[in-house]
Amino acid sequence: MSLIVQKFGGTSVADAQKILAAARKAVRARQEGHQVVMVVSAMGHNTDLLIDLANQITDQPPAREMDMLLSTGEQVSVALMAMAISSLGHEAISFTGAQIGIKTDSTHTKARIQSISTERMRKALDDGKIVIAAGFQGIDEDFNITTLGRGGSDTTAVALAAVLSASACEIYTDVDGVYTTDPRLMAEARRVSRVSYDEMLELASLGAGVMHNRSIEFAKKFNVPIHVRSSFSDVPGTMIVALPESLEQPVSGAALAKNEARVTILGVPDKPGTSLAIFSKIAKRNISVDMIVQDVGAGGAADLSFTVLTDDLRATLAAANEAATELNAEGVTHNDQVAKVSVVGLGMARQTGVAERMFRALADAGVNIQMITTSEIKISVLVAREQGAAALRAVHQEFQLDKAPTVSSEAQAVAPAGSKSDAVAVVARLQKMEELAIDDIELDESQARITVSGVFDQPGIAATIFEAVAKGGIFVDMIVQSFGREGTAKLSFTVPQNQYDKTLKLLAGLADRLKCGPISGSPNVAKLSVSGIGLRSHTQVAIRTFRCLAESGINIDLISTSEVRVNVVVDGGHGQQALKCLQAAFADCMQ
Ligand code: ADP
Ligand code: ASP
Ligand code: MG
Repeated sequence: MSLIVQKFGGTSVADAQKILAAARKAVRARQEGHQVVMVVSAMGHNTDLLIDLANQITDQPPAREMDMLLSTGEQVSVALMAMAISSLGHEAISFTGAQIGIKTDSTHTKARIQSISTERMRKALDDGKIVIAAGFQGIDEDFNITTLGRGGSDTTAVALAAVLSASACEIYTDVDGVYTTDPRLMAEARRVSRVSYDEMLELASLGAGVMHNRSIEFAKKFNVPIHVRSSFSDVPGTMIVALPESLEQPVSGAALAKNEARVTILGVPDKPGTSLAIFSKIAKRNISVDMIVQDVGAGGAADLSFTVLTDDLRATLAAANEAATELNAEGVTHNDQVAKVSVVGLGMARQTGVAERMFRALADAGVNIQMITTSEIKISVLVAREQGAAALRAVHQEFQLDKAPTVSSEAQAVAPAGSKSDAVAVVARLQKMEELAIDDIELDESQARITVSGVFDQPGIAATIFEAVAKGGIFVDMIVQSFGREGTAKLSFTVPQNQYDKTLKLLAGLADRLKCGPISGSPNVAKLSVSGIGLRSHTQVAIRTFRCLAESGINIDLISTSEVRVNVVVDGGHGQQALKCLQAAFADCMQ
């Protein structure tokens, strides 16, 4: 008998009528002959209300007690759901995370799943019951209740689908699928029929709140097809699977993250080990950072900027100030009025000119870009928060995301989760659940770095530079723009070595016109990429990378991170040595 996991989010169980409607969906699936596991979130905005309540008591509630409190929201819903199913004449049993045996680590409020035992669920299913699991919660080895982070019921659902080898994992929510951007922010957003794991992983981490990003890590790792659909209708929604709608279009989605803050550590000595000193302090506090940008050092000191969620700002500043004192840096600045706008697309990796289109669209909309980072399948820019919505609109329009792509990827056979032939291997991987898995470490010794200093903090400069570079037939790979001092920033990018001289020449003319410069560079750099799944939330990947390079005395010129990669650019002469030390550093978690 096939098994289906159905997850219902907060708005889908907001009142008694909605709980009954969700129960009817589960009963229908049961009557169609499936075994059914439901995963249920707290009703409506209950989690927010509980958080508010805690904050009325203290502004620093202990994390363990926060989990104790928040887990009650889901406990209410599962009990009511079981009653609803029973009222419809079917058998059901509700379980808390602990009762199912969802074991997690002890990182309260951001716990990671370590293992799930299936026996109790299997027994109930075999007895003909609908199993109702509380989302977003687990238990650590000392029986403390833990939660997986906001939105974590999605992760519970996909994890259960993986361990139970479900034939489908349906995420019922208040939208009828995944859109090209948040439909609440842009009416023109288009529902996509299919989105790839990699794109959804990036989008979810960059602000598309429709799915918890870690649920997509699970889905990708265990090949769980996800169907995101409406609780309130039966129309087919969006499949999250291996291949996107189209590989031809450069961009498949855009996201706005409004609650971002920028932190800059000024005048960090430009020597090996400084990134490590800073980020290990931040990682200790379990904070995920994004958009890490380090200026290429001038006069022996560099400025290092990165973004965090505003919720994490206070703890991040404490860590950053500690690091700045230790490193003898000049100081720490921050801005909590910024937003991050990103475009994501697998097709981007195969096309040139995507970045300059994005920068031009932003310039034409009068949006100033404060920072830029790119990876193979995403470009993110940091802008003033008040310009976030306009920036999102500009990029959505530029890439015509409201129109369906004309050429679609070939249809793919979707293998049900756990249907891989090597059952032993699947079980071995499942035992590790959310542990870090590195796929590959690559060295690219074919690139050169260009740095344009004195880039004025005003709209249009990045667009003009990259338009000129593209017109010259130059292929740009990694782009980073730092947050600059005194109204100017530094823009660095990598190009093929054989185009280095040509790029310098081309920029020389342009720099005069744009009144920026000087232009510097290195004709021979090495780019190292560590790739895997969920690297941003596994903060230790960046830390391990920095540590091993520091221990080998290798200085890092540029850094960019994404959900699936950490890229660093180092001096060309150090490429092979850096590769060897990274391979040794990650030997224990290579797939
Ligand atoms: P649930 O409570 O069901 O988990 P969420 O509020 O977590 O629901 O997620 C659904 C919401 O995600 C939608 O109402 C929508 O506003 C928002 N959202 C953000 N980005 C996207 C996107 N790209 N596609 C669809 N919805 C999105
Ligand atoms: N109730 C939790 C939250 O609001 C988990 C979830 O809904 O996924 O974040
Ligand atoms: Mg959600």
